[in-house]
Amino acid sequence: MYGKIKQDLQQNLEELKSQGLYKTERIITSSQSSQINVAGGETVLNFCANNYLGLANNPEVVKAAQDIMNDWGFGLSSVRFICGTQDIHKQLEKKVSEFLGTEDTILYVAAFDANGGVFEPLLGEDSAIISDELNHASIIDGVRLCKAQRLRYKHSDMAELGQCLQDAASATYRLIVTDGVFSMDGDLAKLPEIVALAEKYDAMVMVDDSHATGYIGKTGRGTAEHFGVLGKIDIITTTFGKAMGGGNGGCTSGRKEIIEMLRQRSRPYLFSNTLAPATVGATLKVIDMLAASSDLPEKTMANAQYFRSKMEAAGFDLVKGDTAIVPVMIYDEPLAVKFADELLKEGVYVIGFVFPVVPRGKARIRVQLSAAHTTSQIDKAVDAFIKVGKQMNII
Ligand SMILES: *Cc1c(COP(=O)(O)O)cnc(C)c1O
Repeated sequence: MYGKIKQDLQQNLEELKSQGLYKTERIITSSQSSQINVAGGETVLNFCANNYLGLANNPEVVKAAQDIMNDWGFGLSSVRFICGTQDIHKQLEKKVSEFLGTEDTILYVAAFDANGGVFEPLLGEDSAIISDELNHASIIDGVRLCKAQRLRYKHSDMAELGQCLQDAASATYRLIVTDGVFSMDGDLAKLPEIVALAEKYDAMVMVDDSHATGYIGKTGRGTAEHFGVLGKIDIITTTFGKAMGGGNGGCTSGRKEIIEMLRQRSRPYLFSNTLAPATVGATLKVIDMLAASSDLPEKTMANAQYFRSKMEAAGFDLVKGDTAIVPVMIYDEPLAVKFADELLKEGVYVIGFVFPVVPRGKARIRVQLSAAHTTSQIDKAVDAFIKVGKQMNII
């Protein structure tokens, strides 16, 4: 009977609203791009998408998705192991492996599923997973689904990671897991130190490169390329839903036997549908584009550096970093929300992040740059930040 729970849900929803924790969704009435239309009719500059390479509405990518549907249909109506594997899926797995410098790759309909299905088939209760405290929700959920011992280290604290590895010395296997790029500070995992610790304490390393694949590293191969540790990461999970065209889909890539076991045992792979051909076609295209030229990742990073330097010159307090995520610190929660609202009135769409997404008193505006932004769009955004910043006595 839908009785008591209805009232309780209504009350809980009201509480979320009164605490300022209720999420509303802004409706976009155009394709995803550096400039978008939002319901109400305004055109705004978009600085809050994960569209790092600007490929979400790229004509070549859209055409690749359309073309592949002509030959391969819309969907497979099946999981992979029953009758859902086309040769395009094998092609994409091969191409992703070449791109990431790994031995093999398994596709999932989302990186969330890749992370949800990676731990349980590999690690039992005699093993230990050692996880950065700021890892993505899907890693946390994936770890919960497996029986291994869990240890958590303070964000990027290598001394604590070393301690956790010592504490897990008696475990059969140890796996260190980290985001490659952390989404709230836009900082990179300390992969060289992590790899060295893994070697010292006989552990495997897993990196979730969802916010990195496509634009971090000289040719966009991600954090392992950035740090020169390609081939040293045992497991990489990543998404095709951010820089790589922004549709959806993800994968786990890495050591051959690991991927082979995931095909046998990983539940989101075994019990969820095949990646749709359109996504496969678009992702194949994006990888070809990146193999042919590094112009796009270079543009993304150049745009991020340009925005950073102008904002620093204007006196804003930024979290330092080497990614296209640029957090502008406001600290005060209501002020950050108001700041983002005022920027929208100036035609700049960004989001204020407040507790509990970031620590209390560390509210910020997260700005994300894309290869699609023009210099004049970035200039306009900086001008808007300066205008609102002065109005609100932040600079
Ligand atoms: C976005 C993100 C995911 C989820 O990716 P989907 O493919 O959209 O499920 C997983 N991990 C990290 C670190 C992410 O940033």
